[in-house]
Amino acid sequence: MSTQNQAAGLVIPAPEIVTLPVQGDSARFPVRRVYCVGRNYAAHAVEMGHDPDKEPPFFFLKQSSNLLPDGQDFPYPSMTSDVHHEVELVVALKAGGRDVPAAQALDLVYGYGVGLDMTRRDLQAALKKAGRPWEAGKAFDHSAPCSALVPARRAGHPASGTIRLSVNGDIRQDGDLNQMIWKTAEIIAELSRLFELAPGDLIMTGTPAGVGPVVRGDLMHAEIDGVGTLTTKVI
Ligand code: MN
Repeated sequence: MSTQNQAAGLVIPAPEIVTLPVQGDSARFPVRRVYCVGRNYAAHAVEMGHDPDKEPPFFFLKQSSNLLPDGQDFPYPSMTSDVHHEVELVVALKAGGRDVPAAQALDLVYGYGVGLDMTRRDLQAALKKAGRPWEAGKAFDHSAPCSALVPARRAGHPASGTIRLSVNGDIRQDGDLNQMIWKTAEIIAELSRLFELAPGDLIMTGTPAGVGPVVRGDLMHAEIDGVGTLTTKVI
């Protein structure tokens, strides 16, 4: 036990607090939890073999330590041969609460980012089939590349606009935020019925159609109108 740990009253070093950069600000956004919404664009639900009707949203989580900053390489993960990109609008909360009404939910939002919900699709499919939890498919190291955040005071609350992902310059996903089945405010309201939300929470809001595999050497470029861009190379 080092004297530094002893001084902090800790038996091992404290885990790092993960932070994201903020556009136009030298101060950073500290991340608490990373919630993700499943099947939130009808065309993606269909491509995954599901009914596109509006069912209650469902949620899973990644770890804050899974975040990968914009511009850093995405290491191809272990135990898979089918890693997929899912470009998503990321919502960052500055306030929390329980049972938040949808009409007040956007007051909790600090800002927005561009994220990738990278997925070991082969493992996820096997876990789904076996009725097992999804973490091995979704919450692996570096599985959540994320851009700098843009504060809502600058960007507003984007409800429409292009959400796009290209691989090596070829457009693979090309949707619009207005295709989200559950809107940002509704997602926050629904999530707050299940979990007490808190400042620092991120929500990945689901992906439009066009998900697919990447291989080592691929360059992924994601963009959302009015929010930002994200670039990462698969190594
Ligand atoms: Mn997703």
